[in-house]
Amino acid sequence: MNLELDILPLFDDPVAKKRPLIIAGPCSAESEEQVLESARDLSAMGVRIFRAGIWKPRTRPNAFEGVGSTGLPWLKRVQEETGMLTAIEVANVKHVYEALKFGVDIIWIGARTSANPFAVQEIADTLKGLDIPVMIKNPVNPDVELWIGAIERIYGAGVKRIVAIHRGFSVFAKSNYRNHPHWQIPIELKRRIPNLPVITDPSHICGNRERLFEISQEAMDLNFDGIIIECHPDPDKAWSDAKQQITPAALKTILDKIIIRKSEVDNGLAMTLGELREEIDTLDDQIIDIFETRMKIADQIGQYKKSYNVAILQSKRWDSILNKRLDMGYKKGLSNEFITRVFRAIHQESINHQARIMNIEPEGEPET
Ligand code: PEP
Ligand code: MN
Repeated sequence: MNLELDILPLFDDPVAKKRPLIIAGPCSAESEEQVLESARDLSAMGVRIFRAGIWKPRTRPNAFEGVGSTGLPWLKRVQEETGMLTAIEVANVKHVYEALKFGVDIIWIGARTSANPFAVQEIADTLKGLDIPVMIKNPVNPDVELWIGAIERIYGAGVKRIVAIHRGFSVFAKSNYRNHPHWQIPIELKRRIPNLPVITDPSHICGNRERLFEISQEAMDLNFDGIIIECHPDPDKAWSDAKQQITPAALKTILDKIIIRKSEVDNGLAMTLGELREEIDTLDDQIIDIFETRMKIADQIGQYKKSYNVAILQSKRWDSILNKRLDMGYKKGLSNEFITRVFRAIHQESINHQARIMNIEPEGEPET
């Protein structure tokens, strides 16, 4: 699907429309001084779009929920003093009206809101006939259809300047990330809507400062269009998301270090790349053939289990299959996470095959 989007100029600014698009600013607007200090420092570094949360969606009550409309005149001062474009999160009709009243340049829909079609539709209905760029964060849950649905709702209201923000997905288990990146989801989004700009929010993916560079570089390596990152003049004292915010100077270090890869390959390189891609294609074909053979054997085992009335799942056997491969994978430089995922999927497919043989309905795809 190619939406008829106005890609260029995405935002009315000569620097802001070049790749990578950089958006920076504090998680929350806290005071006029804090907002202006961040904006001045970022503007001096060449950042053209300033973000700040005015209304903050907090997981638990009794946390700082944003300064509210009081902060909107501060953003006006940012525009007047620095010429930067301003961006804030909106979650309901009132927020949209307030943003427009105070001349905010760009609005974004947060991850909790984009997970709620009623809320997104209400915002979309409010935006009908208005011309303001809208950025749409991925929903908190890893559901590409829900993300696309939110984009379609906003697009359906006639909004032509849309950017998707990849901010990672909620996790239950303890993880290295605050929100797991699941890169395959924004990649799938790009595949489905190729002309949609997608930018990455390393701050909310990491939840800390340590891996911001790594995630930002990965976003560039995967050819995404930019980065939205949280910056605060005194991060440790921030009223929200203190652990993940960095100073404008630290952002400069990250941006200076990032390698921006070319979006398109030139001719000489295309030859080598073409050859390498052919090799990858051949290997991928072989992987499918091997899977087919493996499932045929699993079917035979299924027949055997059926004849002798043996249960499909043999936990000990599965444990030993996985441990052996984890060991082997480790020696070959393949991460535990990767091997576990691949083998879980293979094992599940074998179980599905054997369940079919035993005439039990296998686990189907979840309904959307
Ligand atoms: C934010 O950008 O500060 C924010 C609340 O983000 P998210 O909706 O991604 O949690
Ligand atoms: Mn935040």
